[in-house]
Amino acid sequence: SRQFTRPLNDLANQFNTLLSAVAGAERVFEVIDEKEEASDEKEAKSFLIQDGEVEFKEVSFSYEKEGNTVTDVSFSVSPGETVALVGPTGAGKTTIINLLSRFYEVNTGKIMIDGHDIKEIKRESLRANMGFVLQDSYLFRGTIRENIRYGRLDATDKEIEESAKLANAHSFIMKLPNKYDTVLTQDGNGISQGQKQLLSIARAILSNPTLLVLDEATSSIDTITELKIQEALQRLMEGRTSFVIAHRLNTIQTADQILVLKEGRLIESGTHKSLLKAGGFYANLYENQLTEEMA
Ligand code: ADP
Repeated sequence: SRQFTRPLNDLANQFNTLLSAVAGAERVFEVIDEKEEASDEKEAKSFLIQDGEVEFKEVSFSYEKEGNTVTDVSFSVSPGETVALVGPTGAGKTTIINLLSRFYEVNTGKIMIDGHDIKEIKRESLRANMGFVLQDSYLFRGTIRENIRYGRLDATDKEIEESAKLANAHSFIMKLPNKYDTVLTQDGNGISQGQKQLLSIARAILSNPTLLVLDEATSSIDTITELKIQEALQRLMEGRTSFVIAHRLNTIQTADQILVLKEGRLIESGTHKSLLKAGGFYANLYENQLTEEMA
């Protein structure tokens, strides 16, 4: 997932650089858009994702000129479903998310959201409808309040606290000497990895996205915080279409759909039960790897 978090880490770094000079978060996306991405097509429109229905139609993509990173991937996701992306390292899980978020453009095929080709949706508009909870939560130098507000810039302090409560973050925040006014430094000044996750969940809850992208933490987090994260994520995912790069067995087992990727191809999909029954690659992966590494 390193490749995926890179654009977002860049975002955080640029934010730090820009924070004193620029007020609007949109500006950050503009900077990223200018520097790193092809510009939107002229006809690209602002768009509100209402249902969160997602369809990949024979999508192929390559980072390099030759060879395919993702080959002929098709799947559809109904509104509100949770999709777990599973497969060995390098299988293309992160790339699928990069394409869905338009960090990169498909070479062939189409990605549709609510029946619209995402090429026709402005990046800024697309991402305004998406929430990200990543392993390296991109917190910036600023107060906790500002960091949560980044999810929705016009949110009131009360709304920020409500989100923090739903994210199980409020109680630890209130124990800090400066509470919501605590300034986060780049190294997090004593905020644990798990607490950072709770803050990024609070931010995502505040932004109220239709589409969610979660990259589950692999780093060890204490059991109590872990339970808080699980509960907060349940609340966040409720009623939203969620894509999870899954590392937790429980997430995979309860997903509405598991997409099993291998060498850039979608080789199996289904529920945990149906895939086990099929006795294919997933069943094998589950027995030999997932149970050991993730239990
Ligand atoms: P996963 O998330 O399943 O581990 P990725 O989608 O990150 O897999 O990677 C799929 C393949 O694409 C890998 O071979 C990886 O090395 C390659 N890759 C990922 N990001 C880039 C990039 N920015 N440039 C070139 N190759 C990349």
